[in-house]
Amino acid sequence: MSSKDLKNQGVKSLNEVCTVTEGLRWLYRQKLLPLEKYYAFSDFHSPSLEEADFDNKPMILVVGQYSTGKTTFIRYLLEQGEYPGGRIGPEPTSDCFTAIMHGDVHNVIPGNALVVDPNKPFRKLSPFGTTFLNRFQCVHFPNQVLESISIIDTPGILSSSKRKMSRGYDFPAVVRWFAEHVDRVILLCDAHKLELSDEFSRTIAALRGNEDKLRVVLNKADAVHPQQLMRVYGALMWSLGKAFRTPEVLRVYIGSFWSAPLKVTDNQKLFQREEEDLFADIQNLPRSSALRKLNDLVKRARLVRAHAYIISALKEEMPLVFRRDHKKRDLIYDLPLLFSRIQQRHQLSPGDFPDCARMQEQLMNHDFSRFKALKPRLLADLDELLTTDIAKLMPLLREEEREAAYRPGVQGGALLDTSSGPFAELNPFCHPEPAGENAEPSDEGWVVSRDKPKYDEIFYNLSPHQGKLSGTQVKDWMLGTRLPSSVLGRIWRLADVDRDGMLDEEEFALASHLMEVKLEGFGLPPMLPPHLVPPSKRRRRTSNTENSKDCGDA
Ligand code: CA
Repeated sequence: MSSKDLKNQGVKSLNEVCTVTEGLRWLYRQKLLPLEKYYAFSDFHSPSLEEADFDNKPMILVVGQYSTGKTTFIRYLLEQGEYPGGRIGPEPTSDCFTAIMHGDVHNVIPGNALVVDPNKPFRKLSPFGTTFLNRFQCVHFPNQVLESISIIDTPGILSSSKRKMSRGYDFPAVVRWFAEHVDRVILLCDAHKLELSDEFSRTIAALRGNEDKLRVVLNKADAVHPQQLMRVYGALMWSLGKAFRTPEVLRVYIGSFWSAPLKVTDNQKLFQREEEDLFADIQNLPRSSALRKLNDLVKRARLVRAHAYIISALKEEMPLVFRRDHKKRDLIYDLPLLFSRIQQRHQLSPGDFPDCARMQEQLMNHDFSRFKALKPRLLADLDELLTTDIAKLMPLLREEEREAAYRPGVQGGALLDTSSGPFAELNPFCHPEPAGENAEPSDEGWVVSRDKPKYDEIFYNLSPHQGKLSGTQVKDWMLGTRLPSSVLGRIWRLADVDRDGMLDEEEFALASHLMEVKLEGFGLPPMLPPHLVPPSKRRRRTSNTENSKDCGDA
């Protein structure tokens, strides 16, 4: 984009930047990147950041074992019956890392092409090799949710029985790369068959350091009885506690994230609240995106600083000529000691340091004589970044957050449900247009009429007031279908055609019809198609406004 280039040029100091993202990009280029290059940071940790890393939409990485319902969860979130390239099945061979992104037309881009596209944040994935790239793709299609966020679907984590199967690439390393680059990691676990396999443990270990982004979802919780659910929850917390340094910050959501009726309904209310919480968290991602980028840059800067001290200390210890191999071995062996010496001397937190065992392994393949000595000027720049520059961006960040609070978060898909109706959280940002207004007058018969007498009976049993039922009056009856509340919310939204927050006789019949459609396993339309609009709402405004006047006067 040319406007992007313009933005970057001309910025000479931090005082000139207009957005947090711009400031971070400037700081990275000026103060962090030179140090990364000088001490070959990317050989040990992660590749240098690019334009697309700063500019991309918030991304969600969805990981989980086979059959935990990852793809179903994503389709549920997007309210997309099928996304091209999204396959569900127990066959590991059909499994891919799939970046699901917004596009005006459906298309699928293979991994080999993705890693050369400068507009996508995936260029640095090429070192993971051809086998991986053959299992990586990007799917574009139009979807409202994807206008605000992108989603990365991942191959299922292998169970113990399939352990011997080789993937041909370093799966946990790829997961780690994504975890470092996304805004949220959703770890889906199956309450029905939670299996803590080897690869599961290694994948969790790969998420270490990104605990703040992690949300754990105990899915299919409706498939087990409450007592068993408690046991599964306990086992999961225990293994997460072992894997992470700060398990207490982890949030585990319990629920059933698919549009099917609940099997065991004891915890229906809990599931509903958990789903609302999780969706609210996702909905807020665009608002917290700048803060996430800032946190990630600080995290990275601290690691770069530790790395610079480690490499320069190793360089200092190496003899110029004799017994170099011998000394190298000793230095690697004594690395833990070196770590704590550096921590003490420079007052650094152990949390800033890389994993020692991994670093030891990597150092074996490096020629220590090429390491660079300490360059105080570069480190002074970095210290300035951490101590004063980031603080200078804070007022800008607060301002952006204040502005973002007035903008709606992610809209669309299952998330639309939080915008209105009795199943909704209060969302002051959404003022949907009444659907009837745009509906073309249609002479087709109304499908719903067939069963209307049946629905009318229920309608009048729920004791309507002045010909209408309120959300509270209908809610319990709708929940009785055991459909997830987000689906019911969506149905409410479609059925309350004139958006007055009430259901009249026809709207109620329409809601009942849509529930039956859903219970029969069909998808819901994103918008009410003209032939489903109740006859009285088809005759445009004149009759609509008269109706609401009647109601208001009465
Ligand atoms: Ca209505």
